[in-house]
Parts: sequence; structure tokens; C-alpha cells
Amino acid sequence: STPGGPKAKEEKIVVTVRLRPLNKREQAIKDQIAWECIDDHTINYKSASQDRLIAPTTYTFDKVFAPSCLTETVYESVKNVALSSLMGINATIFAYGQTSSGKTYTMRGITEKAVNDIYEHILNTSERDFSIKISGLEIYNENVRDLLNMDTGRNLKLLDDPEKGTVVDKLVEETAENDKHLRHLISICEAQRQVGETALNDTSSRSHQIIRLTIESSLRENSGCVRSFVASLNFVDLAGSERASQTHTDGARLREGCHINLSLMTLTTVIRKLSVGKRSGHIPYRDSKLTRILQHSLGGNARTAIICTLSPATSHVEQSRNTLAFATRAK
Ligand code: ADP
Ligand code: MG
Repeated sequence: STPGGPKAKEEKIVVTVRLRPLNKREQAIKDQIAWECIDDHTINYKSASQDRLIAPTTYTFDKVFAPSCLTETVYESVKNVALSSLMGINATIFAYGQTSSGKTYTMRGITEKAVNDIYEHILNTSERDFSIKISGLEIYNENVRDLLNMDTGRNLKLLDDPEKGTVVDKLVEETAENDKHLRHLISICEAQRQVGETALNDTSSRSHQIIRLTIESSLRENSGCVRSFVASLNFVDLAGSERASQTHTDGARLREGCHINLSLMTLTTVIRKLSVGKRSGHIPYRDSKLTRILQHSLGGNARTAIICTLSPATSHVEQSRNTLAFATRAK
């Protein structure tokens, strides 16, 4: 559709920013809160007057969540994106932010709330029969690992299916019997990621996790016509955004060697191009595993929400600015 046309607002990526509270460690070192939420849409850098950087100090987004906001409130801003999957529209909800900014905390809460909401809608939609399947995977160093099959589900290949597009070969997909079973399967994925985390020394800052629900439905026989829907709903907990940072000034990051994460860099490029719209030309989905896997749930007719998580601390201002710059480009 034409830019500014009636559908333009609906099609754009929903971009929100969530500030977490100062944590105990930050409180212990008397770190200060560097950001304030002026209203529901605006976040402001508090010490602007002493700051010699020329970067903007006030940023506006679809929604901004202060440290006191509950995940329930954050969920309200992405609810429509999640529920569109019940009507056959692919959808993706991301958490983007530096390590320790609250991505996993936020995504887990959002996933739980979405699952509750989806089952409530299924209960209230008596004219349709639904089926929900789930798969979970992790991308670490461009290797794909199955979170529902830790025995042989490593180094999975991506295949190009003429109908489905990119599929992950041999990825386990389980059918959820009911909401309780689905929550159980999600908890298995989350637990498996943690196992990797302790064994490989904080993989979560380097790895991406995708929990994918495939939601199918058809109208019941006696309702006359038969119309089926199928869509994916993806919950994506990204690697720490410091992995996409171009600045090599930080000693700790320099020592880590290859800190740039190909999937994260490619995702930021894809999202920037999608936000520019039709004029952006070629979109490099195929340049990384993450963007290949998400291709059909990102751009086109798909709905996308990005929750950018921020540490409020003065000591993290540089990374928070990077996150806000990404969020601004994604709008
Ligand atoms: P990330 O996944 O971005 O590395 P986490 O989600 O693990 O960060 O969050 C880091 C810590 O901060 C965790 O102990 C988490 O429980 C806590 N935390 C994050 N966001 C919030 C929040 N909004 N409210 C309270 N605690 C939070
Ligand atoms: Mg995490």
C-alpha cells in the first residue's frame, strides 16, 4: 500500500521500550538512574545538560514502559501482534537489548501471557477447531540446536522447501494437547537453554532463542464453508545487543575476540530495510540463520513487534543509546 495510506499504520513494526528497575548490584555501587519516562511514548536522558554527545536526548516510540510497569502492561502493547496468528497471519515478537537489560525476563512473561490469551480466544471461538504445535531452537555461532531434542538435535541444517520456504531439518515439533501441556513444553525449551548457559559460560549473551507456535484452525463442518488458517507465532529472545555494536572501545569486549554476531547484525539490517518500506530494495534475509528461519514471519504480510529492553543505570548509558538508536531506526 502507499506510504501514509489507510493501512500504513497497521503494517509498521510495533516498537516499544522497557526500562527495568536498578538491580541489586547497581544499587550496591550507587549507580544512578539515567533515564526517565516523560509519558507513555517518550523517554528522556536525564543528565542531558552535562552531556557533550550530540545524540538526541529525547526519543519517542509506540510505547515506553517505566521500571514500575508490569509485564502484563507490556503485553498489552504486543497483544494484537500475538493474536493475529490466530487468524492466519505470521507474527514475531522480539526482545532486543544488551545483556542483563531484561530480555529473557520480558520474553518469558510475554510468552506466558500470550499463551493464556490464545487459549482464552480458542475457548471463546466455538465455531473453529484449533491445533497448536510448538518447536524451540537456539542459534549459537550460526549453529542451530533443537531445544526439544538435546540428544541429536545439534547443527541442524536449513532446507529450502518449495511450499514452506526455509525449514529446519529434523527440528522436533510437538503438538500441544492443551494449555498446560504447551506451558510444559515451553518450560523444557527454557530449561534446555539454561543447561547450555552454565556449560558454555553465558551462551545467552551470544545465542538467539526462538520458540515457535504453529497455530492451525478450520471452521467446524456444520458451519457451512470450510476455511483454514495456519500461521507461525515466534517469540525471539535475541543475543545481547552489544554483539551488534560497532564500537571496539570497550576493553572487555575486545578481549572476547570475535564479538560480532552475524545473525544479530543481519537482523538489524533486515529490520532497518523493512522499516524504510518498499523503496529499500533487496532485503538480505538469506545472509544469516536467524533471518532465514524468520523470513516468512518478518516483513511482507507478517506482523512484528520489538520490545527493546534497557538498563536504567548511568554505567550503561552507551549501550542504552545504541539500543535506542536501533529502536528509532526500526520504527
Ligand atoms: P537479559 O536476558 O537481557 O540478559 P535478564 O532478563 O536475564 O536479562 O535480566 C537480568 C536480571 O534483571 C534478571 O535477574 C531479571 O530477573 C532482572 N529483571 C529484568 N527485567 C526486570 C524487570 N522489568 N523487573 C524486575 N526485574 C527484572
Ligand atoms: Mg537472557
